[in-house]
Amino acid sequence: MTAIRHTAPLAFQIHDNQLMIGGFSAERLAARVGQTPFYAYDRDLITARIAQLRAALPSAIQLHYAIKANPMPAVVQHLAQLIDGFDVASGGELKTVLDTPMSPLNISFAGPAKNKTELTQAIAAGIVINLESERELRIVTEIGAALCIQPRVAVRVNPNFELKSSGMKMSGGAKQFGIDAERVPFVLTEMRALNLEFVGFHIFSGSQNLRAEAISEAQEQTLALAVRLAQNAPAPLRSLNLGGGFGIPYFPGEQPLDLTAVGERLAELLPAAQRELPDAEFVIELGRFLVGEAGVYLCRVIERKWSRGQLFLVTDGGLHQHLAASGNFGQVIRKNYPVVVANRIHAANESELASVVGPLCTPLDLLADKMPLGHAQEGDLIAVLQSGAYGLSASPTAFLGHPTAIEVLVN
Ligand SMILES: *Cc1c(COP(=O)(O)O)cnc(C)c1O
Repeated sequence: MTAIRHTAPLAFQIHDNQLMIGGFSAERLAARVGQTPFYAYDRDLITARIAQLRAALPSAIQLHYAIKANPMPAVVQHLAQLIDGFDVASGGELKTVLDTPMSPLNISFAGPAKNKTELTQAIAAGIVINLESERELRIVTEIGAALCIQPRVAVRVNPNFELKSSGMKMSGGAKQFGIDAERVPFVLTEMRALNLEFVGFHIFSGSQNLRAEAISEAQEQTLALAVRLAQNAPAPLRSLNLGGGFGIPYFPGEQPLDLTAVGERLAELLPAAQRELPDAEFVIELGRFLVGEAGVYLCRVIERKWSRGQLFLVTDGGLHQHLAASGNFGQVIRKNYPVVVANRIHAANESELASVVGPLCTPLDLLADKMPLGHAQEGDLIAVLQSGAYGLSASPTAFLGHPTAIEVLVN
């Protein structure tokens, strides 16, 4: 068999050919949960990931979690004890983080199209608004005056560079995010006359990057840009959000990010920026890198079906609950996530080629396309790994009206 193997490290243990999740076999966990499909997130793996980051990055770096990656309240509560801040992008996400003990000073609110209600809530909460436009600057100033609160604001900058080889580019060129870098000096000058507390810049250039050199290059450019823009700032910079973009390996042949290399390069770059911006704290905001590998999606085989020589494992799970694994969440070419038969992890010589499909009436509903898998029987459990980020909350759960999956945090 010549299929290219996934090199994604299996974060979860295997015991007696069973995938172990939080000390339970997948089968026993399914019994505990009471239904399939479900998502399980492993608290200890999330904790370990943050320890790994802290060890690799300079100690001055503050870690923020962008909760859109996984907004499950129990996950967010767990992270609140481990990280330094949250980044939210909606009123709904704001509600989730305000239920945690995190200080509002360490919560920021980014995203285009913020409405007046959300902005009012954010200003009343005392969190930092990342201004995406001059319209937002105007509205935030008005709301502050009406509430007799000085809003805390940072300027989200659309830099004139991009994070190279990213899964998703979010800067450089024309973008709906942030204020174009060349326009920022003008906006900063305007802000001097307004009753606002300026805290700094937010410069996010991309996502899902596995190349240390590309991340370091973007960080170098971000620091230089921030130092330059700070010359026009209405107050000394107290916070510089450098973005994130740390990726995780999903597909065959992908290698994990060299975190040590990123950390070492940042340790070289940081002192000069700290001299130029002595009051600033430096923030890296991450989503999938914190939680993506700590999650698994489990569904059950309903039928083993042959069609013209090809084997289909028809399951109760599908793209309505895991859009990303189906290849329809931003991928240009569909590739397989790492998938295993959770109660029959195969030895290489015991595998058969199978496609894992779901219950939806569309050929897009594909969780694995002709992958080598253990010999699954009806009733077996299929596990989609690397599923702790952009899973359930990033899926069209209403599509075709099936029951929804549930989420559990284990350990
Ligand atoms: C989506 C997003 C993130 C998180 O991206 P990941 O790829 O999950 O790390 C961080 N910051 C901003 C501004 C985002 O929009």
